[in-house]
Amino acid sequence: MTDERQVRPATEGWQQAKTPDGKPLLQFEAPKRGKPPVHWADLTLVERVAKVESLGLPKFRAKQVSTHYFEHYTDDAALMTDLPKDGREELVAQFLPPLLTPVRELRTDDGATVKFLWRLFDGALIESVLMRYPGRITLCISSQAGCGMNCPFCATGQAGLTRNLSSAEIVAQVVAANRYIRDGRLSRSATSSALVPGSSLPPSAFDVEPVSDDESDKSVPERGLSERSESKPESKGQRVNNIVFMGMGEPLANYNRVLRAIRTMLAPAPDGLGMSARGITVSSVGLAPAIRRLADEGLPLTFALSLHAPDDALRDDLIPINDRWKVDEALDATRYYFETTGRRVSIEYALIKDMNDHAWRADLLAEKLNARGRGWVHVNPIPLNPTPGSIWTASDRAHTQEFLRRLNDAGVPATLRDTRGKEIDGACGQLVATEEDQALAAAD
Ligand code: SAH
Repeated sequence: MTDERQVRPATEGWQQAKTPDGKPLLQFEAPKRGKPPVHWADLTLVERVAKVESLGLPKFRAKQVSTHYFEHYTDDAALMTDLPKDGREELVAQFLPPLLTPVRELRTDDGATVKFLWRLFDGALIESVLMRYPGRITLCISSQAGCGMNCPFCATGQAGLTRNLSSAEIVAQVVAANRYIRDGRLSRSATSSALVPGSSLPPSAFDVEPVSDDESDKSVPERGLSERSESKPESKGQRVNNIVFMGMGEPLANYNRVLRAIRTMLAPAPDGLGMSARGITVSSVGLAPAIRRLADEGLPLTFALSLHAPDDALRDDLIPINDRWKVDEALDATRYYFETTGRRVSIEYALIKDMNDHAWRADLLAEKLNARGRGWVHVNPIPLNPTPGSIWTASDRAHTQEFLRRLNDAGVPATLRDTRGKEIDGACGQLVATEEDQALAAAD
């Protein structure tokens, strides 16, 4: 073991944005840009009915529009034959303006993992990643274009915050993924790298266990996934049943829009996507007051804290927001989340060679978690994914196993997290719009 070696966070090949006094720049406010068009999915139920009535239409039109969008995933006026032909185009253009323009789609794992690159109305680019696992379909979504949290090991943060996404831009990522699945385009092969030998993940990937940190793993597949799978077409009735806010952005820095999007995901069809709160994971870098506010919403969402270091000495450099809310404050807020919602929380920990993977750090982490009680938390280490321009590397297998063993021996459940999509830069911390993406987006 090289427990004595301590590499400090540093950047190579790119410059971390700093304040005049030399601290990593944190951006909570995005530079002012135009607002995306207001979309049906931005509105509450009451607002939708008011909008319909303001146009002199009967109330029931609101349900019809919702059914098209949230149940049939369509915004194509030509398919909405139940709306009066006269004025239909204009109505749909007003209620359901296009928000996401496809730029590129990259597939891996024999088509069971897909990364979508979308262009927004103002040219900003975002990504979402769709993954089929046995028994569930996960979508990793973006809450902001770029990110203002400036974590030096994460590709998204390197270009700063472009802007917050609107609620509808967040929901639209799910609707687009559901349409993709419905159309039979997400491969059924589902060769979870963790479960099936000979998968398409590179040999460098560890023998990982599947994510098992939330009940959604065990939940009944929604809408008869299993029985319908025998019918043709095979994808009929299948849809995203697991959402993780682990794409671009810090969801709690775009709190109100993220919450409104979540409420739309939870609203029963046809007014929303009818998803289960347990199947939605909000991941945060540790904005302590916002974590407490989320806890008080009364929604049994799953919460994950991106901790990555149990000591302030290291976390101050690794996660710039630690300057404002220290490890203990982030952990106290996370414990509060558990107490308030009864939902077991996750701790994310990207294992970085010689930086945060020391045995003593596993012990310190276990000590800090156990000091706050038992059975409330699960640790999800993940080997660091490479990012452009970074010299940092993932921990080796021996250190990874030792880290996990120490946590588990101390009574803290810890499982290595499956990481999908590395080959298409679609894994955690790899989502960034490259110059190539921008050129492609500008070309069409
Ligand atoms: N801003 C949120 C969610 C976005 S990132 C958050 O910080 O939680 C989702 C997860 O990927 C976070 O835990 C983040 O720390 C982690 N991550 C970022 N870069 C990574 C990398 N290069 N390798 C592995 N995980 C990474």
